[in-house]
Amino acid sequence: MTTWIEAARRAAVVAVGAALARQGLIRGREGNISCRLDDRRFLLTPGGSDKRRLLAVELLVVPLGGPIPPGASSEALMHLETYRHCPAVGAVVHAHPANVLALETRGRMPSPQALKEGEAIVPRIARVPSFPPGSEALALACARALKRAPVAVMARHGVAAGGADVWEALARVEVVELLARLALEHHHGGAIL
Ligand SMILES: [Zn+2]
Repeated sequence: MTTWIEAARRAAVVAVGAALARQGLIRGREGNISCRLDDRRFLLTPGGSDKRRLLAVELLVVPLGGPIPPGASSEALMHLETYRHCPAVGAVVHAHPANVLALETRGRMPSPQALKEGEAIVPRIARVPSFPPGSEALALACARALKRAPVAVMARHGVAAGGADVWEALARVEVVELLARLALEHHHGGAIL
């Protein structure tokens, strides 16, 4: 039976997916979102799903002890390992923000100190080296990074943000993208990507 808490969390994941797509933080079927349901299970977006028109009933329930159900997001392991390693994390948002990627490919990272909002919402940003998407190596590296920092930048790939809920994780992705945009603007003397 679906409880009202589960129904509310499913609706929040759907809304955050639409917000990511609307802001260009993901394109098409990119990105994935999850949130804890209880101490044994979490909700996860299905693989290859278009976040502009995700349905609450399409979200999968993943047990923390595994196995990952068929049809789950390709980054399911990253979400699973993050919940196993980080008891304080209640939700994870993974996106591919263009300015963060543009900055990272130049060998630079967004600086939280550039904005008061940055310092408050994302006091630390970790960097994860390049690993194949969906791999166990990437999943473990991200989980360890999110234990130290609320946001991890994955080299040549994107960002993973943890939060108490999906809205906090989304806000962190948004702030890191703004910080990256400001850093690029500074770098190029006014040209904003
Ligand atoms: Zn990705």
